[in-house]
Amino acid sequence: MGWFPTYARIFALVAAVTIIAGFYGYAWQGAVLALVGVIIYWQSQMLAVQEWLRSPEDPPPNVYGIWGELTAKIYMHQRRNQKIQARLQSNIEYLQDSFASIRDGVIIVDAQGAIEWCNAAVTPLLGLRHPDDVGQTLTNLLREPAFNDYFISGDYAEPLQFSATLDATRFLQVEITYFGKGERLLFVRDVSEAVRMEQIRRDFVANVSHELRTPLTVITGYLDTFLASEDLPSPRYEKPLMQMKQQAIRMENLLKDLLWLSRIESEKRTAKREMVDVAGLLKEVQEEFSSAYTDREVHLNLESREKIYGDFQELYSAASNLVGNALKYGGEGVRVDINWFQRGSECVLEVRDDGPGIDAVHIPRLTERFYRVDDSRNTATGGTGLGLAIVKHVAQSHHAKLEIDSELGVGTTFALVFEVGG
Ligand code: ADP
Repeated sequence: MGWFPTYARIFALVAAVTIIAGFYGYAWQGAVLALVGVIIYWQSQMLAVQEWLRSPEDPPPNVYGIWGELTAKIYMHQRRNQKIQARLQSNIEYLQDSFASIRDGVIIVDAQGAIEWCNAAVTPLLGLRHPDDVGQTLTNLLREPAFNDYFISGDYAEPLQFSATLDATRFLQVEITYFGKGERLLFVRDVSEAVRMEQIRRDFVANVSHELRTPLTVITGYLDTFLASEDLPSPRYEKPLMQMKQQAIRMENLLKDLLWLSRIESEKRTAKREMVDVAGLLKEVQEEFSSAYTDREVHLNLESREKIYGDFQELYSAASNLVGNALKYGGEGVRVDINWFQRGSECVLEVRDDGPGIDAVHIPRLTERFYRVDDSRNTATGGTGLGLAIVKHVAQSHHAKLEIDSELGVGTTFALVFEVGG
């Protein structure tokens, strides 16, 4: 396109000059002269275009024909690109403005770990200097071992909560997401108030449970005395006294579980870590339940001898809650299997029963405190509703996954999945 009329014009010009010069007997000289003229004209146009290309944002020069079309097209593309660039720039500025205005700290880190951008909120939160620290490696600037380990690990599935080194009373939470070509977006917020409220709640539950234990011990003591005594005022009192005793035992179990839950929730327990022989632990659990439930089958299959780093008491309580549940809710004639085996890089503690199973609708909520599938069944079994909350907490504190698989009429499997060496 465009070239044919150009060639036709040149040909017509050269032909016309040749014919006119031919009349005077100078045909070929005329042709050469016309061609030289055309070349000089083209050259001048080309030079004008070349000159303009040095700063193509200026309006194009007055050139004609093919050069005119060329410069017009370049100029049009240039304008379009400028508009797109301006729009992108304003989008970037808009996003940066909105990030800059939020109260949480926002940091963009490049693939090498250097700060690309951050907002002013990072200064009071992390002690970074805004914007002077841009370009510096983030982990060199922050003296927060927990944060640095988390940042380097590259596993950001769960947010990290840590107490700030600058001020130990402050707790920060950081969430990291990858974007672009390995860049990372960090959100840092102060969660001290939420952590404080959670601590108050825990202390309250622990104190109330503790305080209730003494009066309850007195009540059960008197109830035992009354029930054992020969001279009850009337046999009519025997049944109510028996029921009071049962409920007192339930309350005792509830307080025991509440206290245990608040104790394992307290971070101080992480100090009690050691290499735990899970196979030996499961043997103890099996012996305990086999002697308590002589009419049920509790099988132990130990395929692994792997030890894991953790807290013996916590792991024992998780395993015994799972086995206890399987026996309690499995019903008459249930078969319970306790398995300890390796699955790739993981070790699995599995408690499987062929009991009635659990409807899928309940599974996501099973580990909530006091969540019950069937209240009447629980009252009969004396459950506290805290067993699986304890199991879940033990899983979390051991960086293990809790997998629940159940089918109505077929059975239930609870599995604690540990990363070996984790
Ligand atoms: P509880 O202390 O009352 O037993 P849990 O938190 O241990 O409470 O269990 C929550 C609910 O999950 C129970 O109410 C029970 O209905 C159900 N459940 C737990 N384990 C099993 C199981 N192996 N088979 C059937 N239902 C179960």
